[in-house]
Amino acid sequence: MSCPKCGSREVALLPSNEFLCRRCGHRWAIPHVDYTWIETDIKKAKLFEKYIDAPAESCEELLAQLMKELDEKNARLLAAKILIQRAERRKLSKAELARLYSDAERCFQ
Ligand SMILES: [Zn+2]
Repeated sequence: MSCPKCGSREVALLPSNEFLCRRCGHRWAIPHVDYTWIETDIKKAKLFEKYIDAPAESCEELLAQLMKELDEKNARLLAAKILIQRAERRKLSKAELARLYSDAERCFQ
């Protein structure tokens, strides 16, 4: 960390969550950390648990539910993940599996 004003590396961290340059006295805030991707991951994990056994059977039904809470890209990824997990949990016949997998693939289109 160096001072954005004079470039000095003699920088102190203040209790107010600011940096102070010991050379020129410039103060600036600690850069804000973006936590939104963590929030999205937590949300997706919760939605996964909620919808893994939900009655919504098709990609479209799942997407309609998931898009209320996620953006489209995340909703499509999660819908496909749920469909594939269901297929694995249910020990389906080959024909049923093929149907579920093609439904999951459709989620990406
Ligand atoms: Zn400075």
